[in-house]
Amino acid sequence: MSQELNGSQTPTNPAKEVVNLKRKDYLNWDDYFMATALLSAKRSKDPSTQVGACIVDTQKRIVAIGYNGFPRGCSDDAFSWSKPSDGISTDPLEHKYMYVVHAEANAILNSNGTSLVGTRLYTTLFPCNECAKLIIQSGVKEVYYMSDKYAEKPTFRGSKRMFDAAGISYKRYTPTRKQVIINFDEIIQEELNISLDMKALKM
Ligand SMILES: [Zn+2]
Repeated sequence: MSQELNGSQTPTNPAKEVVNLKRKDYLNWDDYFMATALLSAKRSKDPSTQVGACIVDTQKRIVAIGYNGFPRGCSDDAFSWSKPSDGISTDPLEHKYMYVVHAEANAILNSNGTSLVGTRLYTTLFPCNECAKLIIQSGVKEVYYMSDKYAEKPTFRGSKRMFDAAGISYKRYTPTRKQVIINFDEIIQEELNISLDMKALKM
């Protein structure tokens, strides 16, 4: 109360710049969410295609993450990741297509009861027709994707046809940086260096 403003006080100069030490190279939101999808894809055991998805609400909160994998209880050691072109087996029961849950589907299923209405889905690969159905039915409104390498396949053309009909927007996302490096060793080394500095100070 001692600093109460009164009419005679000089107003601060509105043009004055605030000096602070804010980092300049912090991750922007879209790069952050796509990087989260990519990090999730690193969990996939699929030898040929690793896909990750991250669903974000309008408050920029991550509400679900997923990657392509087999259902719970269906061990990667008991079920095969092979596909027909591998030439390992002609039996469909020995092919991954019978069992794999796609990243987008896993993300939707992993949302833990949270409503996905109005959310945005970040995915490393354009959704297939089966995932597109789930995306539409779960209420996701926007899809940001990185790769659309199968654009000409009917499966993916079907996705776009459904998205267009359902009013789901989809946009290829171009990151603003070439890479995001996650360096575990940096943290370990930093702690080690601080510890060494502390020891040196005690000497
Ligand atoms: Zn899919």
